[in-house]
Amino acid sequence: MATILEPGEIEAAASSPPFLHLPPKNLFTLRLERLVDGHPLADYLRLVTGLCHVQQGLMDDPPVTAMPDAERLRVCQQHGLPPFAAESLVREDVWLPYLDALLQRYQPPPQPAVKKAVATLRSANVGQRKAWAIALVSGQFTMLPAAVVPFLGAALQIAWSHWLLSTPDLALKPGDSLSQCPACGSPAMAGVIRHRGKYNGLRYLVCSLCACEWHVVRVKCVYCEQSKGLEYVSLEDDRHAANQAPVRAEVCPGCHSYLKLLYLENDAEAEALSTDLISLLLDMRLEQEGYQRPAPNLLLAPGGD
Ligand code: FE
Ligand code: FE
Repeated sequence: MATILEPGEIEAAASSPPFLHLPPKNLFTLRLERLVDGHPLADYLRLVTGLCHVQQGLMDDPPVTAMPDAERLRVCQQHGLPPFAAESLVREDVWLPYLDALLQRYQPPPQPAVKKAVATLRSANVGQRKAWAIALVSGQFTMLPAAVVPFLGAALQIAWSHWLLSTPDLALKPGDSLSQCPACGSPAMAGVIRHRGKYNGLRYLVCSLCACEWHVVRVKCVYCEQSKGLEYVSLEDDRHAANQAPVRAEVCPGCHSYLKLLYLENDAEAEALSTDLISLLLDMRLEQEGYQRPAPNLLLAPGGD
């Protein structure tokens, strides 16, 4: 494993960088294009590819016009609160049609374990579905069966991303912590260092739930807000020098946490969720060294199979 110090980069010249970067409407297609064969986790990645395909279908052809109440969205924005607050909306019924539609449209591959997981979710009643979803969005992965996580996570993601991208002119304010999504209040999944136009050189965190991206200055731990002693760690790779690796973890010695960063300058076509999944080896190494990862990926139960 290679460890390098990132040069103390000066923030890009723009005096006030754009706070938001919204994902494109084909975000789920971008994800599935990156999940490739020949990987040690190929079976799991193929399952995720299938789910991304269904998610994109639901984005392009949503099941119903299930939107959170417009007045509530307006009031939240007026008060600088996340309009799509996950912890409250997940307790309501408004996201359930997306799960129904996903379960209807998803064709499970022949593996018995996958069929069983989908059957478990199909036969769960509304109360059970909500209880599992509440656990998932609050990061309590041990409170629901690991096997249902990717399917439930995919349904929640498509609901929240669809709402985000169907609501024009959102006025969003930074959350209570740097790692919190301004649109839905969920924790970031990863960071992206952008490389084009007005976003060049800026860091955006990507929401684990709605995929909204928000600006956070670089070279600062997003969990404890310290800059001291941060290290940038990547897996050794024949194709990239350590300071050109497209995926690096920003490791904080102060709070023993890390956040994975994707450098588009070094891999222009990369997408955050799929890159996170195909670089799980880096997480395993950092976990062995005693670092914790506060950033969830809703399609993967930590330690699940
Ligand atoms: Fe979000
Ligand atoms: Fe920290």
